[in-house]
Amino acid sequence: MAAVSDIVLQVGGITPFTTIDFPGRLAAVIFCQGCPWRCQYCHNRHLLPAGENGKYPWEEVLRWLETRRGLLEGVVFSGGEPLLQRQLPEAVEQLHRDGFEVALHTSGVYPERLRKILPSVEWVGLDIKAPFDEYDVITGGGNGERVRDSLGFVLAFGKAHELRCTLDPDFFNVERAEKMARQLVEMGANHLVLQSCRDEVHRRKRPVSKEIIASFERFLPSVTCRL
Ligand code: SF4
Repeated sequence: MAAVSDIVLQVGGITPFTTIDFPGRLAAVIFCQGCPWRCQYCHNRHLLPAGENGKYPWEEVLRWLETRRGLLEGVVFSGGEPLLQRQLPEAVEQLHRDGFEVALHTSGVYPERLRKILPSVEWVGLDIKAPFDEYDVITGGGNGERVRDSLGFVLAFGKAHELRCTLDPDFFNVERAEKMARQLVEMGANHLVLQSCRDEVHRRKRPVSKEIIASFERFLPSVTCRL
């Protein structure tokens, strides 16, 4: 691997080893700096400001990955929002040349960028945060129609993927859960992973009522609880 690169990527953090962020692969996670949204429950707030110099220059990341060759099978781009990085497609290509498979975690905020990069990545984790018409409540102004488009691209392309929802108990009630589940089914999605959100002070998981979970299960063929 040549650890020389003219690619500019704002990297705000690295998890050197994970078995859960890229199904079936031993992987490292690269956290990209910057996100246009401001979800109340975001647990990576230090990664949100865009335009800040990343903590790790991309060349340094490549040099480190070189020492992991043979130990890691994949690299996950997470964030923040990785698709904010204009040179992400080039970085993905570079990692492929170096023998790594690549996964992408995204909020779906940039559907066109996602559409273009889909053929190049091996797996996508797409967040579904709320019914598409109520996204602004969770994201502080974000437009859920972008996520609807992103989901449409992922499903149409047939890319290996996971849809996951962080359940904010202050937001979700039975009505909203059912509405979101129906919207997903109408688009052809058949599986959803439910995750807890954590309270800001103690980082404890916030409980989710059984009624909310049952509301998703009523409509979606498959629901996995990671609560
Ligand atoms: S989209 Fe993700 S990274 Fe951005 S604010 Fe929301 S939870 Fe945080």
